[in-house]
Amino acid sequence: MEQELTARGHTLVDFEDPADAYVVNTCTVTAVSDKKSRQMIRRARRQSPGAVVAVCGCYAQTRPEQIRDLDVDLISGTGDRMAFLDLLEHAVREKEPVLAVDQAMQRRSFEVLPAGGMAKRTRAMLKVEDGCVNFCSYCIIPYARGPVRSLPVREAAEQTAGLRKEGYREIVLTGIEISSWGQDLKNGESLIDLLEAVSAQAGDMRIRLGSLEPRTITEDFCRRAAALPGLCPHFHLSMQSGCDDTLRRMNRKYDTNRYKESVELLNVYFPRPAITTDLIVGFPGETEAEFAKTLDFVRACGFAEMHIFPYSIRTGTPAAKMEQVPKAVKEERAARAAEAAAELNRSYLSGCVGETYPVLYEQEAGGLWTGHAPNYILAGVKGNNLHNQVRRTKITGVQGNMLVGELEETDV
Ligand code: SF4
Repeated sequence: MEQELTARGHTLVDFEDPADAYVVNTCTVTAVSDKKSRQMIRRARRQSPGAVVAVCGCYAQTRPEQIRDLDVDLISGTGDRMAFLDLLEHAVREKEPVLAVDQAMQRRSFEVLPAGGMAKRTRAMLKVEDGCVNFCSYCIIPYARGPVRSLPVREAAEQTAGLRKEGYREIVLTGIEISSWGQDLKNGESLIDLLEAVSAQAGDMRIRLGSLEPRTITEDFCRRAAALPGLCPHFHLSMQSGCDDTLRRMNRKYDTNRYKESVELLNVYFPRPAITTDLIVGFPGETEAEFAKTLDFVRACGFAEMHIFPYSIRTGTPAAKMEQVPKAVKEERAARAAEAAAELNRSYLSGCVGETYPVLYEQEAGGLWTGHAPNYILAGVKGNNLHNQVRRTKITGVQGNMLVGELEETDV
């Protein structure tokens, strides 16, 4: 949307600055996301009472009536972004309120958006998929996004070639549930076919994958993915729980055996991959024994990093009606899970010391240039103007959650 607005001749300013219009792109994955979205909307209204406040995204899609109560001028959801921008321009001209939320479940086509990013041309996002039909019992996203729609291989390859020409150094294949990429195209293609096609056009750009489901990680996937020179060995494999009973109540489509198989395959095919995950603690009915199984399981998987979420009720989902775990128990489990995550993270980072990585440098602060190694661990060195350069970096130590090192003489 930023790119499109700029192309239409508008000027983007910081959210804090005076503007004709403010766009709040909302998230609804947890109750905290809803709250933050409401805060941003109120802030926009307070700081510029005469400006247009336009709201889009998943919260607006699923609960437009809650947004309407906040005195906004335009409400749209997760559908047609180009139409949303037309309505935004109209709202600035006419100053009349518009509600334009479609039925997400009726959507059948993939909206091709300009690929790219704003991060000073280092990393571009290439959205290849939208929607999800997994209906995990805690999740509101299928209702906010509708069924699976995929960007066809040819378009993805063309967009990749375009991003390479624009000078990006890295692309991230994103979507709501990219493991389901291709389901709707009904031509037998799966994520690995897309990845190979993107890789063929990527030149020396690196490729990263968004969040994956364990079912994607098969012997065939790993063998073919490991042969792609630019694919980064960082895999975010959604787990949510390490206990089979909890996974069943969550309506996740795998058990811990299948999950572990994926972790093991990645470790066979990639050198010391960074495997990261999401974990929900305090899911309805989660007993202390179930949580203990999860803690043992995360240690056995050896995650490089974990994102921990205390379970959050999403109205309209099956889990909202299940027996809830008290807030204090959820918080206590989140703290214990965070301790395990910190321990695993330290262990992964200390295993990087002594290694040499091609680090893609992005920014400088206080005399230290920082960027990401292929495993997406942040690394910092002293140096002059390394922006957008990939430099071989010998890792000499760990500072907090960052690796520190020295540049090697030979470039990559
Ligand atoms: S896979 Fe499950 S958690 Fe992920 S978006 Fe779909 S329903 Fe939500």
